[in-house]
Amino acid sequence: MIHEIFPHSFNNSYVANQKIGEDDFIFHYNQNTLLFKANGDGLTFPQKKDLSGIPDDTNVTFLFTLDNTPCFLINGEVNTEKSDLIYKEIKIFRNLNQQEIAWAVIAGYHLANWYAQNRFCGKCGSATIHKTDERAVNCSSCDTIFYPKISPAIIVAIICNDKILLACNSNFPARWYSLIAGYVDIGEPLEETVRRETKEEVGLDVRNIRYYKSQPWPLTGSLMVGFIAEADDTQPIILETKELTEAAWFTRGNLPNYPPGLGISGEMISKFDKGEL
Ligand SMILES: [Zn+2]
Repeated sequence: MIHEIFPHSFNNSYVANQKIGEDDFIFHYNQNTLLFKANGDGLTFPQKKDLSGIPDDTNVTFLFTLDNTPCFLINGEVNTEKSDLIYKEIKIFRNLNQQEIAWAVIAGYHLANWYAQNRFCGKCGSATIHKTDERAVNCSSCDTIFYPKISPAIIVAIICNDKILLACNSNFPARWYSLIAGYVDIGEPLEETVRRETKEEVGLDVRNIRYYKSQPWPLTGSLMVGFIAEADDTQPIILETKELTEAAWFTRGNLPNYPPGLGISGEMISKFDKGEL
């Protein structure tokens, strides 16, 4: 899965009052693009020394540490005249074979979006300021503190003996079949979300709900919580047609196209196919 970047390391501990150094990585997002630096056949992130003219008082925000190098978010204009600096679409993460770069791109994107969406207090409308001792912003007027927002979602492999239920979502980039998934509602335990989403999307009742593992998915600000559940394949499938175009039972060894292993869904479907789930 995309966050599993060993032997590289990602440390999201917030370092209080971290000062930016010349060799530290700069994350400069512009709409749905990010500034990269060419590195042989691959990509890396620009360092502060690559971006001449960053004033010392530029608003920089510590993000996280990648392979022991602190990473900082910078907003506003930067000088990108050096020929090896290039903006690329965020979605390039799906095709990068440097998984530590791919992971940092979307982890930084989640934080960049969150900071951009919390420049003003939701209670009183005053400007917020970045706290220096923790990853949070607080209101300059009413002192409310806002922490990064993560939206939990369930994803469930629904199984009946050697069959798995897969569904085709109209938003998928290709004709992929994947697992049933959905956001957790307020006041709802995860197991209830599994039951509700399965009933809503394909009309099935599930039993024996078991936890699999979880995966952060920063692109949508989510934490995907994976489950396995059983269902009786004699129940009628009643499709929720707003999101899904098709859902059906598929037999192990004869599965349709499914998403790659970057995400938890691809890993779970692949494991089912190999008889490991
Ligand atoms: Zn306020």
